[in-house]
Amino acid sequence: MALKRKTGFLFEEIYLWHDASMGAFPLEPGHHFENPETKRRFRDLLAVSGLLEGLHSIKTIPATEDDLARFHTREYIARIKRLSAERGGEAGEFTPFGPGSFEIALLAAGGVIRAVEAVVTGAVENAYALVRPPGHHAQPDRGRGYCIFGNIALAVMYARAKLAVTRVAVVDWDVHHGNGTQQAFYEDPNVLTISIHQDNLYPANSGNVGENGAGRGIGYNLNIPMPPGSGGGAYLAAFERLIVPALRRFKPELIVVASGLDAAGFDPLGRMMLHSEHYRRLTRLILEVAGDVCAGRVVLSHEGGYSAVYVPFCGLAIMEELSGIRTEIVDPFLELAQSWSYQELQSHQEAAIDRAAALLARIK
Ligand code: ZN
Repeated sequence: MALKRKTGFLFEEIYLWHDASMGAFPLEPGHHFENPETKRRFRDLLAVSGLLEGLHSIKTIPATEDDLARFHTREYIARIKRLSAERGGEAGEFTPFGPGSFEIALLAAGGVIRAVEAVVTGAVENAYALVRPPGHHAQPDRGRGYCIFGNIALAVMYARAKLAVTRVAVVDWDVHHGNGTQQAFYEDPNVLTISIHQDNLYPANSGNVGENGAGRGIGYNLNIPMPPGSGGGAYLAAFERLIVPALRRFKPELIVVASGLDAAGFDPLGRMMLHSEHYRRLTRLILEVAGDVCAGRVVLSHEGGYSAVYVPFCGLAIMEELSGIRTEIVDPFLELAQSWSYQELQSHQEAAIDRAAALLARIK
């Protein structure tokens, strides 16, 4: 049993009011992949399990337009604000939004900023920001893949501007490539960005091993594109052979995890095979390295995850590990997912990890 920790949790009801439905023929109106249910049910399972009572609630405030402008262009911010005040619109690619989403997106970005602040100032030991809309695909001048503003990039930039933090590592375990976070720090040797994702899933032609940083940032962006069908064996090997050693070499002052839960085997958009115990193990690995290099300072920021049935169980396992509080809830799908063939590391998956691990020495 892990030691009980002071773990922060951030969630706002209004995150669920962001409307990302596509709203255009020939898609029947109603549920779209990025809908509130995964987030609502994650939060509700925390409540039903009793874990929520053991967490330290963090209140968000909206990010300011100056906060946004550390990463986004003023033109883009003004366009989203104007469309949101009218009837909504399209932020770029696959990022439709309804009226009021500008203000909700400010609260999402502000939420991750507040979670980072709470951890950096020592108000809590670690934290999970269950925000919506997600952020890791957003670019300076356009939204992509359901993401309007780059929540994590903005929080890291805030920490460096306002909280006297210099070195930050971002580990993105969402099944899609964290292209926006990569872009934000591509030439920056003080922010190590690591993304493990399904090879060339989304965005198209993004996240290959060769994208390793530029200028002074060469070596400080790591992509680990994994074959579809990768299971716990592949993820654990990638963490043990590459991600954890990279974090130990880099010695960040803070680790931020882009916590997409769409690498789970039941996810409709990803083709990976993780289950809740894998997310628990990955969380433990992050906490262990964080304990050694940055006094346990870890913030997880929610990204994707599209199975309303299964996301809550992965989320609960993560929160149990973060807080050291074990509830009595048992993942009802765990036994089945554990019995799936090919959960162990396969040779073609190992080759993919080795290709990325060859870049480890570039981290000073
Ligand atoms: Zn995703």
